[in-house]
Amino acid sequence: KPVVAIVGRPNVGKSTIFNRIVGERVSIVEDIPGVTRDRIYSSGEWLNKDFNLIDTGGIEITDEPLLTQMRQQAELAIQEADVIIFIVNGREGITSADEEVAKILFRSKKPIVLGVNKIDNPEMREQLYEFYSLGMGDPVAISGSHGLGLGDLLDEVLKHFPDREEVVYDEETIRVSLIGRPNVGKSSLVNSLLGEDRVIVSSIAGTTRDAIDTPFTLDDQQYVLIDTAGMRKRGKVFESTEKYSVLRALKAIERSDVVLVVLNAEEGILEQDKKIAGYAHEAGRAVVIVVNKWDAITKDDKTLQTFEKKIRDHFLFLSYAPILFVSAHSKQRLNTILPMVNEAAENHSLRVPTNVLNDLIMDAVAMNPTPTDKGKRLRINYATQVAIKPPTFVIFVNEPELLHFSYERFLENRIRATFEFKGTPIKIIPRKKN
Ligand code: GDP
Repeated sequence: KPVVAIVGRPNVGKSTIFNRIVGERVSIVEDIPGVTRDRIYSSGEWLNKDFNLIDTGGIEITDEPLLTQMRQQAELAIQEADVIIFIVNGREGITSADEEVAKILFRSKKPIVLGVNKIDNPEMREQLYEFYSLGMGDPVAISGSHGLGLGDLLDEVLKHFPDREEVVYDEETIRVSLIGRPNVGKSSLVNSLLGEDRVIVSSIAGTTRDAIDTPFTLDDQQYVLIDTAGMRKRGKVFESTEKYSVLRALKAIERSDVVLVVLNAEEGILEQDKKIAGYAHEAGRAVVIVVNKWDAITKDDKTLQTFEKKIRDHFLFLSYAPILFVSAHSKQRLNTILPMVNEAAENHSLRVPTNVLNDLIMDAVAMNPTPTDKGKRLRINYATQVAIKPPTFVIFVNEPELLHFSYERFLENRIRATFEFKGTPIKIIPRKKN
């Protein structure tokens, strides 16, 4: 999918515009305690064209001076995006920071669409003219808060989409990515995994020199490691900063079936780890937690359990994810990773027979009566699985609002009591039907 990045000074309205464009998709994401809510990367659609959208302003809050931040944003956009939306504030006119960013973007020769925001009514269109002097062609008048002009803006963006083909892997291939902070050992794990005796690294038709994925086979199962460019070579530069690594992770997650969330046993769990893991969960990918550098810490007979408990406490939303304690260096338990990937992938695309599903939900309701609110009781009529990757269940009820989080959680637990769904999130969506 083409990538579109939004760049602009703080407070010009980038997030509002971002949310408008990805709109509906964000609102269907359920509220899960413990999952980070900030959105900087999401998918959008316009005139049947799908694309990914990055809000470069939201990626990292730094206390760097404005100009430095702006330069970083611009560079990030240039590196990652096919088309850049440059947002300025129509009420404030051109500032020196705008000019600075314009210069950097201009030099990159990437297609740029200039959006003049906060043009809330037709009378204000006068303000547009001064922005011609930025030399970025016709400015598009928009109002993020009123939702005006965004169609025109996206029309312009679409004109610049490259026509290129994406590599599509066949259905049986399990797409795996390793994500985690810099230095947790992702590259070492990739190299160790691919260095295993029976692993056959293949090259597939159509892959080019700069291919970023690594396809391989083990015991007749095909896998592809997503975005391993740089990981297999030493001296990688691509994730020199946290900022790039988050973005890399998000893009890799999107293309994966199974995400290996890599933690560093030496450093424990940091806020950044949670954030990254949260994205994998929210994207509905299968997740396996891999604690690397297990060789490097002193252990007694309680260390493993203590670490495991700490992970469970920190990653409440990942209660389904198995945890592996490994070492890329000593190769300890490395051979458990791919079997676990297989299991998670299988559960990720598991289909539950409708009759079994309904029987178990009726049993659940008998065990724990449905909640009531203002004298009304939730009534469940029927449930059915509507999707895989992740398994998604629609439950037809009398009043969807009555299906509170706690009861939904209870139903999820009952489903998992029969079908463990180890390694995969499952989704429950209530729909009204009397
Ligand atoms: P990445 O940034 O996540 O790809 O991390 P690297 O694979 O580059 O590893 C970062 C550092 O941790 C390097 O110095 C590795 O040698 C070291 N490292 C990686 N895996 C292990 C491990 O299992 N045990 C120990 N002790 N060190 C490791």
